[in-house]
Amino acid sequence: MTQDKKAHAIIIGGSLSGLFSATALRAIGYSVDVFEQSPNELDSRGGGIVLQPDVLAAFKFAGVDLPAHSGVDSGDRIYLGQDDRIVEQFFMPQTQTSWSLIYNTMKQALPAGVVHAGERFTRFEQTNARVTAHFESGRVEEGDILIGADGPSSSVRAQLLPAVEPTYAGYIAWRGLVEENDLPAGASDLLRDRFTFQQGESHLILVYLVPGEEGAIERGKRRWNWVWYRKMSTDAVSALMLDRDGQQRATVLGQREIYALHAASRNRLNALYMTSIFIGGAVGSALASVLYEHGGWLWVAIAGTTFPALALIHFLLTGRSTTVSIV
Ligand SMILES: Cc1cc2nc3c(=O)[nH]c(=O)nc-3n(C[C@H](O)[C@H](O)[C@H](O)COP(=O)(O)OP(=O)(O)OC[C@H]3O[C@@H](n4cnc5c(N)ncnc54)[C@H](O)[C@@H]3O)c2cc1C
Repeated sequence: MTQDKKAHAIIIGGSLSGLFSATALRAIGYSVDVFEQSPNELDSRGGGIVLQPDVLAAFKFAGVDLPAHSGVDSGDRIYLGQDDRIVEQFFMPQTQTSWSLIYNTMKQALPAGVVHAGERFTRFEQTNARVTAHFESGRVEEGDILIGADGPSSSVRAQLLPAVEPTYAGYIAWRGLVEENDLPAGASDLLRDRFTFQQGESHLILVYLVPGEEGAIERGKRRWNWVWYRKMSTDAVSALMLDRDGQQRATVLGQREIYALHAASRNRLNALYMTSIFIGGAVGSALASVLYEHGGWLWVAIAGTTFPALALIHFLLTGRSTTVSIV
């Protein structure tokens, strides 16, 4: 127990789930510490978000007041056909706000010193009554409960439920914000004060107004929030995840696989894995320059295909090894 004899909660992740958990637990008498790996404020992370009744209920439960004008109201929901004409319309009033407003309001409701930024959780241990959390910095925290609010790639979940892996849902989402006055008048007139959907066989797009810079809700200063969901095969997603430098961002997935091999040796396995990637990258870059000079893209492509082909042959001959012995 902590000195003030309150039950103590350790929360991993200082985004929305972490902050909502923290304010709710404080409301029922817990002392709380939130640990967020990012050293920065997270308020530039989001776009638009609907103020759903359960969000309002969570604010009320925590005793946290939202600013008086915290969103943009819409009246009708409309569905558009492919020719942009309204095919369905019904009254469904709701309020749209911004991710940052929810984040900032919850964060400011917590006393200074509750959120510890730049602390990356690595693992926990538990006894019947207590839980101990370890951090990359060497920090160790003891509490009565540990909450994993560390997002879709949760490290807390990875240790607690190692067999549970997130799977691709089959669609991706593009999203963005457009200044209110940047949309052509015809489109604005159709969309303003409404929550709009347009959907087809393999896509769904939605558009609504949200507060603009610093929460502005005056007409002309707001922003159009749009999200475009598209069905996409796993192969196509792999191609999509190439970054602007042409690098495949599959490293994230690879790292998860590596972590899953041996929970107690995650840091060492990761060090080995990252070192091998950098050595491989350096060797590949050096080789590619020579090959390109002598044989152009054809030679580079042949070399690039050879390594995965060798790995495939090795895999077919030996199968997938499940034995890891790192101590
Ligand atoms: C623009 C935008 C709009 C959205 N709109 C909606 C909406 O309308 N409705 C809706 O339901 N949802 C919406 N979402 C999704 C919503 O944001 C997410 O549901 C929400 O952010 C999830 O919050 P979270 O705290 O669970 O996870 P995350 O936001 O992913 O946060 C997890 C946090 O944990 C931290 N972390 C991870 N690992 C560690 C570690 N080892 N140690 C310490 N910290 C760690 C991460 O840095 C991160 O800050 C939206 C999201 C965005 C970005």
